[in-house]
Amino acid sequence: MSVLITGTVALDTITSPVGKCHQALGGSASYASVSASFFTPVNLVATVGKDFPKAHIQLFKRKGIDTQGLTIKKGKTFHWEGEYGWDFSDARTLATHINVLSQFNTTLPKDYTKSKYVFLANIDPQMQATVLKQVSSPRFVICDTMNYWISNARKHLVRLLKKIDMSLLNESEARQLSGQTNIMKAAKALLKLGPKILVIKKGEHGAIMFTNNRVICVPGFLLEDISDPTGAGDTFGGALVGYLASRSGNNLANLKSAVVYGKIMATFAVEDFSLRRLISLRKSDISKRFNEFRKFSCF
Ligand code: AMP
Repeated sequence: MSVLITGTVALDTITSPVGKCHQALGGSASYASVSASFFTPVNLVATVGKDFPKAHIQLFKRKGIDTQGLTIKKGKTFHWEGEYGWDFSDARTLATHINVLSQFNTTLPKDYTKSKYVFLANIDPQMQATVLKQVSSPRFVICDTMNYWISNARKHLVRLLKKIDMSLLNESEARQLSGQTNIMKAAKALLKLGPKILVIKKGEHGAIMFTNNRVICVPGFLLEDISDPTGAGDTFGGALVGYLASRSGNNLANLKSAVVYGKIMATFAVEDFSLRRLISLRKSDISKRFNEFRKFSCF
């Protein structure tokens, strides 16, 4: 079953302690779509400018991503500049150029309105809501966001959370949105805002999935070499929704496996700049890492 993914399709300029990339393919929806495409067909909804390289659109198509929902507007593509220090933790944003995103008011292609699995990757919550509103009867909706939107669009974000099934946040976002410092208390407060399931992403240390009566911890997979952590969270979300759609069922066993596949895909994303590693990835690489992950996390 195909998934609908919306978010940013961007050109990123990134500096990390091991290198730099300039105006490279990025954006929450790019990472999420390429990641999900390893599990299921993807319908991508996003807006880019006329400067967006055709080669990137060809790449999406090669990965089985439908680009009917990718609108090209007059103007420049969303551009983000960020840098990381040696601990590769939170990115420092150097510049955000919204550019054509100020014109995002997409009408979904008719087929997409019947989507059952939807991933609202990180973008303005009002834009996420505009897309979701057009989907007639979604079965499972996942929503990601970031500190910027929690600070600047809280009211819209809180309204959106009432309409979704799963919320993805990192630890600091969970604390910021809930107003609680203790992570258990934060999770309880966030579940009261609407989502039935909350996943708190803990970077290289794993993820915790909370429902009203369960807490499930998934460990991280430690890598020796990281180049660029950009897009790890989006890659995680893309694999999660893609896996669930491929299974057509949201039972606990599928949800747990989906989080594990999310973590595994994120470990690939950070091995190189931009989407380079995801582009060269083969399905056999994923199964190999899944088996290694199973071995060290089993007790
Ligand atoms: P992540 O590392 O998972 O937080 O996502 C990084 C991606 O998000 C980059 O490729 C950026 O182009 C994109 N991005 C940066 N700022 C924003 C924003 N305010 N809203 C949506 N996407 C953003």
